[in-house]
Amino acid sequence: MEFSQYDIDSLLSITNRPELVFTEGRGMWMTDHRGKRYLDYLQGWAVNCLGHSPQCMLDALEAQAKKIINPSPAFYNEPSIRLASMLTANSCFDRVFFANSGAEANEGAIKLARKWGQKNPNKKGEARYEIITFDHSFHGRTLATMSASGKPGWDTIFAPQVPGFLKAELNDLASVERLVTDRTVAVMLEPVQGEGGVIPATNEFMRSLREFTEQRDLLLIVDEVQTGMGRTGELFAYQLSGIGPDIMTLGKGIGAGVPLSAMLCRERFAVFEPGDQGGTYNGNPLMTAVGAAVLETLLAPGFLQHVKDAGRHLAETSLRLTAKHGLEGERGEGLLRALKLGRDIGPQIVERARQLEPVGLLLNSPRPDLLRFMPALNVSFDEIDQMADMLSGVISSLD
Ligand SMILES: *Cc1c(COP(=O)(O)O)cnc(C)c1O
Repeated sequence: MEFSQYDIDSLLSITNRPELVFTEGRGMWMTDHRGKRYLDYLQGWAVNCLGHSPQCMLDALEAQAKKIINPSPAFYNEPSIRLASMLTANSCFDRVFFANSGAEANEGAIKLARKWGQKNPNKKGEARYEIITFDHSFHGRTLATMSASGKPGWDTIFAPQVPGFLKAELNDLASVERLVTDRTVAVMLEPVQGEGGVIPATNEFMRSLREFTEQRDLLLIVDEVQTGMGRTGELFAYQLSGIGPDIMTLGKGIGAGVPLSAMLCRERFAVFEPGDQGGTYNGNPLMTAVGAAVLETLLAPGFLQHVKDAGRHLAETSLRLTAKHGLEGERGEGLLRALKLGRDIGPQIVERARQLEPVGLLLNSPRPDLLRFMPALNVSFDEIDQMADMLSGVISSLD
């Protein structure tokens, strides 16, 4: 590749990537090493909730870097306390643990649930540790979070799995009930399965699951790494169904592009003892200062309303594309949406959209018959219309 004198093969190969190097990003746009521009509907994989390099992030990074970057997790720092307070003030949770990735936040949630299951054993006095998760769920790429995930094939690639995860079917309470044993301690789910193909849990399912877990003395854990931080039009997706979970994890949008994640719990489940949990970079002031600036932006008057309005516009636009090209419709919440193609043309569309000239379009196809849109939450209606025009041209070119 002509990009530089350096060698791409120095990187450990983990996935197929196009021969492109992205050198600049602003808002909904990225530029590659040849100067070509792309309308970016990946946004760092649903991460850049304010688009590429928003001013509030640049300001927070600069101001905090000049103050202090790494006092160590052995001491308090101001931005982490501020961000934790903002999160608890705007959710049903009382305590926050910061980490660096979604998988790490989920590991923390799994550990906290197991700890609670040790302190609240079954009738025989045995620790409870089993966690019920769901088919097609995605919780991360560490060994425990891969074991918790319901991605087909993931049970064997790095066998043996971490034990203790049983898989139910989303939106089917009876399938959860069947898996409960005297070792069960928690149920964990994404309010909208993101990687699984944008499949929402129904409000009715969320409510009945909350009732069921309360009756059985089980923790309800929501993985809001993708759905949280305004993505669905509410600050957190659990608010769509009006329930209050016991533990929630956040990632992706909370840092808007910098590595930051969080695990939140209610006071009575805050059972870690000194030494149980930690991490070198956890809660570092540089990242949490960004998190606080991002959350302030999301909480500003009108911001979440824009997410709802833009989500509706994207849905309507997708339905127009559906009618025009004979597709199968769309689904999702807020700005986490998918277009159902009805045939396995997703990968071809992604490829051709990227190669459009003079301006490319970056899209994601989590399943061959589906496109997932992950725009910045401050995406404009114009940028939605522009995407739809480009996409429509690509679909026509395949017919
Ligand atoms: C992306 C994602 C994760 C993993 O987050 P990482 O930061 O990649 O570790 C976990 N859960 C959900 C729902 C996700 O979408």
